[in-house]
Amino acid sequence: MQTIIRKVDENCIDEMIMKEAGALLKQGALVAFPTETVYGLGANALDSEAAAKIYAAKGRPSDNPLIVHIADMDALPLITAEIPEAAKKLAAKFWPGPLTMVMKKSEVVPYGTTGGLDTVAVRMPAHPIALEMIRHGGGYIAAPSANTSGRPSPTLASHVADDMDGIVPLILDGGAVGIGIESTIVDLTDEIPTILRPGFITKEMLQEVVGEVQIDKGLDADSKTPPKAPGMKYRHYAPKAELMIVEGSSEAVVEKINALVKENEEKGICTGIIGTEETVSRYPAGIVKCMGTRNDELSISSHLYGILREFDESDAKVIYSESFEEGAMGSAIMNRLLKAAGHKIIHV
Ligand code: AMP
Ligand code: MG
Repeated sequence: MQTIIRKVDENCIDEMIMKEAGALLKQGALVAFPTETVYGLGANALDSEAAAKIYAAKGRPSDNPLIVHIADMDALPLITAEIPEAAKKLAAKFWPGPLTMVMKKSEVVPYGTTGGLDTVAVRMPAHPIALEMIRHGGGYIAAPSANTSGRPSPTLASHVADDMDGIVPLILDGGAVGIGIESTIVDLTDEIPTILRPGFITKEMLQEVVGEVQIDKGLDADSKTPPKAPGMKYRHYAPKAELMIVEGSSEAVVEKINALVKENEEKGICTGIIGTEETVSRYPAGIVKCMGTRNDELSISSHLYGILREFDESDAKVIYSESFEEGAMGSAIMNRLLKAAGHKIIHV
């Protein structure tokens, strides 16, 4: 299959390209597209054969359900059996935006989209290209991240092309995404809303709207129960090199990383470092990459996956990363980084 990449300007969306994307989606084909979180790989969510193509293209385990993307609130009743009050409030506050809500599904949503579950995860992305494409494609677009399963989620169209060239007919290139990590997922099928995946929308932000919110205990590294979101049990975003996170005071972390790099270099092991604008000048050796500045969390989240991909292209066999617990999105950033590192942490 030949893959066409079309540049789309989000401030002046080319209607012809949207029609082309919409026609492909309605035929049951796949279209990759930008959202504010990461690039998605879209298919008609109400057509299980189309959804099956997503699993095949990504090599995704079939028990890992897909998020259904909508562009208008009017679209919600058709795919849900009931809309909880909390969902209405959260949608009013955070949609369009990086929040996915899990609700009971209606009969029109095939099990092929929900991985066999009776619930459906729904999101309205805050990206003009995504919204236009969804409307042209019939209004219900199942879309996981547009990467091969196990690779970092794509934050540029070129990342999508690296994984999906020859596999999907069309990639819409809307430039770099803004947030760079996947949406917050909240399950609204129980009494108390439960966060199944941390993201840009934090627990505190949700609590302001709906009161008590809990975090799925299955997300803890040492939990005996599996995570409630089937996808969270897989080791996503695994870089080729061994990644370790160095945690402690900024001074101690810089010192420790430099000592580890020196040890590795003496043994001839090519070593990578993930630092920040505040620290990169203090790493004299190793392949040093700057994640962003600690004064702007989005600069960190938006570069995380791209940097992991860059390291896959390098000779680094080991990577040490600084840790990022602080700030509103700290837990979401650390959740992704810890998964990429297989939870290997060096405390100093
Ligand atoms: P991705 O689209 O690649 O970001 O992954 C979607 C995530 O949403 C995975 O972790 C899924 O397990 C989760 N998810 C999708 N639908 C449901 C659902 N009905 N219940 C719980 N988790 C879901
Ligand atoms: Mg994904």
